[in-house]
Amino acid sequence: MTQRIETICVQGGYTPGNGEPRQIPIIQSTTFKYDTAEQMAALFNLEASGYFYTRLQNPTNDYVAAKIAQLEGGTAAMLTSSGQAASFFSVFNLAGAGDHIVAVSTIYGGTFNLFAHTLKRMGIETTFIKPTATDEEIASAFRPNTKCVFGETIANPALIVLDIERFAKAAHAHGVPLIVDNTFATPVNCRPFEWGADIIVHSTTKYMDGHGAGVGGCIVDSGKFDWLAHADKFPGLCTPDESYHGLVYAERFGKEGAYITKATAQLMRDFGAIQSPQNAYLLNLGLESLHLRVERHCRNALEVARFLEQHPNVAWVRYPGLASDPYHELACKYLPNGTCGVVSFGVRGGRPAAEAFQRALKVAAIETHVADARTCCLHPASTTHRQMNDEELKACGIAPELVRYSCGIENAADLIADIDQALNAL
Ligand SMILES: *Cc1c(COP(=O)(O)O)cnc(C)c1O
Repeated sequence: MTQRIETICVQGGYTPGNGEPRQIPIIQSTTFKYDTAEQMAALFNLEASGYFYTRLQNPTNDYVAAKIAQLEGGTAAMLTSSGQAASFFSVFNLAGAGDHIVAVSTIYGGTFNLFAHTLKRMGIETTFIKPTATDEEIASAFRPNTKCVFGETIANPALIVLDIERFAKAAHAHGVPLIVDNTFATPVNCRPFEWGADIIVHSTTKYMDGHGAGVGGCIVDSGKFDWLAHADKFPGLCTPDESYHGLVYAERFGKEGAYITKATAQLMRDFGAIQSPQNAYLLNLGLESLHLRVERHCRNALEVARFLEQHPNVAWVRYPGLASDPYHELACKYLPNGTCGVVSFGVRGGRPAAEAFQRALKVAAIETHVADARTCCLHPASTTHRQMNDEELKACGIAPELVRYSCGIENAADLIADIDQALNAL
């Protein structure tokens, strides 16, 4: 029986048997015991599924990954130690030295750095394209060695809504998958697989955890991309893995399982960016109320955005839920029930005014964080994005006067009163 999002948030991923714990158990164990060496050998050969060492897989993590897979409508998922690890693995599972990827330029600053600098040092080139690129411009970004396209459902902090269907079509026309970072929308507001995306990544640190308790990430596979149909592009999935006795992932595990199995068997094994079972447990507590919180985050954000829009000390407001927003039309298509809790706006008076406004806030705290139950706020130009030059900042859609305001789940009138006094003090 297919269940709705709210039911999956509460009950997905884990179904206890008779007399078993109702809440998911925290399996706080690095290793697992077997009666014979042959049984363990079958696990090492990927002939049987099971657990042997928590650097690769842990049951607590797998319960939570299964819930997120269900929420997104995917076939397999893995938790990672952070959203950054999820983004890195999602690409590195497909691309290596000498390869190329296409990414939307307005993606999260951390992902931008990962692609523009760190992947480059590993021999993977990225072509950044504007979210508003024409079909011709998108097509011209591809090269014979392109392995994927990467975008963000709602860009953090630029709040640009990705035209998922259009980017998926372009990726598929060039025989590669579309990877979408769905952190800001969450599957409560958008399920990118329904629009053609092939792989989804999350920073679970944000709305999914929701309480600022644990850093984490997740990768979900739609199970729809046909790796074998593009075998020449994806030798890692379609030719024998010598580190697993010549196993071919796409043949053994099919479209549904090959991508996540390879990411677990190779990338978790070698890089070890596993989420701790404790954090997976906390993440699951967050997921149980995700649908309730996201609704309130969005309602508060819309009220705050409407207030900011008419305040004389505000130069501009960006919130895709506002009818005046350039991305409202895309938001109506992909996010009809709400967008996210984050509003960005420009304080009149530029960089110094934005800094003064932030200092005057009393309810909203200054934090390098968003998507928390508690309202927080950040001035990217002087904090998270300070390592970027003006050109890179501009390419990311960030102005010096931009304030990123992340509405929590408090009372909207209290948030507005706080903003009002801080703006009036300028
Ligand atoms: C925070 C964030 C990330 C990185 O996640 P971490 O958990 O901080 O490593 C990636 N993408 C988006 C959209 C984010 O907001």
